[in-house]
Amino acid sequence: MGLHFYISILSIAALALCTLAEEDSSVNFSYIGQNGPEKWGSLSPDYAACSNGKIQSPVDLVYTDIVLNNQLKPLERNYVPTNATLVNNQFNIGVHFEGKVGDIYINGKNYSLRQLHWHTPAEHRAHGRVHEAELHLVHLTEDNNNIAVVASLYNLGDPDPLISKIEDKLYELENQSRGAGNKNAKISLGIFDVKEINQNIHRYYRYIGSLTTPPCTEGVIWNIVGKVRTLSKKQLELLKKPLSVNFSHNARPLQPLNGRQIEMYHYHPNRNLTSIFRIHLNKLFVFSNTRFTLPLTQRHHKSTNDIYLF
Ligand SMILES: [Zn+2]
Repeated sequence: MGLHFYISILSIAALALCTLAEEDSSVNFSYIGQNGPEKWGSLSPDYAACSNGKIQSPVDLVYTDIVLNNQLKPLERNYVPTNATLVNNQFNIGVHFEGKVGDIYINGKNYSLRQLHWHTPAEHRAHGRVHEAELHLVHLTEDNNNIAVVASLYNLGDPDPLISKIEDKLYELENQSRGAGNKNAKISLGIFDVKEINQNIHRYYRYIGSLTTPPCTEGVIWNIVGKVRTLSKKQLELLKKPLSVNFSHNARPLQPLNGRQIEMYHYHPNRNLTSIFRIHLNKLFVFSNTRFTLPLTQRHHKSTNDIYLF
């Protein structure tokens, strides 16, 4: 089943976003114990999709499920500085934007960046590999009915320049969260510039899934960036510390693909190549009949020093 099937689901999905972007003082789910992920679907009728849904997230990006799609468009972004707030919403740490940051354009619709947040460890996997953390850039259409997330996975390594800008505030957030019993601590960031995430995306993986937290709403367009980001050990700790023990490991377990295809966008200087057999110039990939074989470990791009998921 292809992407278009899921797009039609997307268009009829009424998406409840109350726990996605807004503060919620009554978070009733957890990542451990009796309200853990396997129980989410029974905690509220609104969460039914968490157990009944057929196109849930996160998933493992397994190379045999991935198909190169030359029709996919680049994810062009030009986020601009705007007023923002660092928020501990109890189940993750995020930055919520008050003004317009910028849009991505997917299948005829504009999606605006509304908030970003982190999960530790990562939720999506790359051929079973678990990364240290995952960044979710949550974009919504103007009517709030459609969601597109751009996700990046992190290895431990050099500090992430985006997190570096809020390190002091993360310490403050930790203190305030303790004082507030972890309930909805927030700190103004003033005008916040996310230029560190404006980089061009040369490779991404797209599939249709769901929110990874209750209500697990389906129809979310996922775009997993192929290039791996890095963060320092200290930064990883800073992202966890404001959270209570129920949420410091806030990665939902993998969900079954159920026949979904994962499509790959791959920038190529000559996008007009029509051959279905082609060998990428750096010989990392061999494409054949749009199925392709990949090395099973992440790749170090020698010329740019970049690390890729495969
Ligand atoms: Zn998330």
